[in-house]
Amino acid sequence: MTTSRRKFIQRSSLLAASTLLPLGCSDHSDRPATGERTAIVIGSGFAGSVAALRLGQAGISTIVLERGQQWSVTGPDTFPTTTNFDRRGTWSIPSSGSSNAGQSGYAGLLETIPGKNVAAVCGACLGGGSLVYGGVLIQPAQKEFEQVFPYLSFQDMDNIYYRRVLATLGAAPIPDDVLASPNYAAHRTFIEDTSALGYEVRRPHTGFDWDIIRQEITGEVPAAASIGEYAFGCNSNAKLSTDKNYLHDAVATGNVAIRSLTEVELIRERTPSGYTVVCRRISAEGEVLEEYELVTDYLFMAAGSMNTTRLLLKSQHAGELRGANDRVGSGWGTNGDLLLAQLHPDVSTGAQGGPACIAATDTSNPAHTVTFMHSPVSIAPLQLQMSMAVPDRTGQLLYNSETDATVIDWESDAGTPSILAQQASFERIVGSNGGAAAPFIEGQIWHPLGGAVMNDACDTLGQLYGYRNLFVVDGSLLPGSAAGVNPALTVAANAERIMEAIVDGLVRETV
Ligand SMILES: Cc1cc2nc3c(=O)[nH]c(=O)nc-3n(C[C@H](O)[C@H](O)[C@H](O)COP(=O)(O)OP(=O)(O)OC[C@H]3O[C@@H](n4cnc5c(N)ncnc54)[C@H](O)[C@@H]3O)c2cc1C
Repeated sequence: MTTSRRKFIQRSSLLAASTLLPLGCSDHSDRPATGERTAIVIGSGFAGSVAALRLGQAGISTIVLERGQQWSVTGPDTFPTTTNFDRRGTWSIPSSGSSNAGQSGYAGLLETIPGKNVAAVCGACLGGGSLVYGGVLIQPAQKEFEQVFPYLSFQDMDNIYYRRVLATLGAAPIPDDVLASPNYAAHRTFIEDTSALGYEVRRPHTGFDWDIIRQEITGEVPAAASIGEYAFGCNSNAKLSTDKNYLHDAVATGNVAIRSLTEVELIRERTPSGYTVVCRRISAEGEVLEEYELVTDYLFMAAGSMNTTRLLLKSQHAGELRGANDRVGSGWGTNGDLLLAQLHPDVSTGAQGGPACIAATDTSNPAHTVTFMHSPVSIAPLQLQMSMAVPDRTGQLLYNSETDATVIDWESDAGTPSILAQQASFERIVGSNGGAAAPFIEGQIWHPLGGAVMNDACDTLGQLYGYRNLFVVDGSLLPGSAAGVNPALTVAANAERIMEAIVDGLVRETV
């Protein structure tokens, strides 16, 4: 892989560049031996982590470019918390083409992209959404899976890829002893309420180390997840984010280098093959330290639904991606999410332990299965549930070249059958426990999906129609829905499926 144009904005950054590769890996930026093919992965969230590991294991020289910082727990104040939320929580670095480009900001953990009727929220750090997510790793039911992904084999996903992700992350359901401990009373209340209604109650896998949570409960390590502080990173180090497993293992192959605080700005198609990736290296405060281009044979888009789609649309708009594909941006959606809250008479003061680890599914409406994930928040007597169903329709992502921003075109879905079904299921819970529904919390979408959808903008192996060796592997592939449940497990398992199917072919191209 070669650096074809390097423009050092600060001479001193050259030294810093040599220390950029975390996790003990070496820099693979020089083009390897003649004939050897190279890969770039843009983004290091769930899908980018999977792609990096499988490319590295296949012996393909790979660079992962991640705009955000690497975060490592150094003490109980490493990450912001709900009661101590500061600039560490927010990605506020202006993009290079916006009117406030060059102004300082901070490479915080979460980016919020405002849009019509909704605002999408996504991770912005090494490990992406795996650092800021609620830990839910839930598998969709076969019926909803086949409704949303009629072109994929549920049996293969069930038997192979979901299991592979859970094993690699080290995920497990909440153990009995933790669920029985005092801080998990709100979970137990939720189980009682929904079981009494005949909802199917499950303990899905979670991406947390339950032994560390046990140590929190006994006071051996500072409390974090067990007192509801599990989003925005987890200060007890209990969260099994992909920097600790997939990315760590990828670097250990010796074939993968990671460049954090490196934002991709544009993708350019090369003749006769391959891609140029235009990037900028930034400081945590947003100062541009270096701009350069990398050339690669295989390009993997894993910047998440909002940013993979943005990069593709922006590069198309700039005339740098010239293949015909007018489907990019279509099929975007909110996963059918609804955040619902109630004041519960039996939820008393005190911490609500996390992460989110109990699901209850109402199958009584044949048209719309509704799944609730109990989402602990330590504000008694509040009970918060993330509710999901397969949505009725999708919207679109567009690119505004004047502001260099993604535009979310989303009609309000209040009143659609799937939203009404969720509200009806929720009202049954509230009605049965004698509580009071709090006003709906609308608009914040934690599960944006779509924009480069399989079997539409891409083939079912993620290759973008019109472009050879440009693979989308992330949440952009899902058509606005993860089949009625939280998406991270399906995003990662789908990336595993794609990598298994293509990687041998990529290796053979090197011969
Ligand atoms: C607050 C919150 C809670 C959530 N909780 C859950 C949960 O409990 N369970 C669940 O299933 N899902 C949850 N999600 C959703 C889940 O995090 C996402 O669905 C998942 O992370 C998507 O994976 P991905 O690989 O598509 O993208 P991401 O994980 O978002 O990764 C994309 C990566 O690309 C990087 N990137 C973006 N643009 C660029 C660029 N131009 N150059 C370089 N790098 C770039 C980003 O910084 C990021 O690291 C939650 C999301 C949020 C925001």
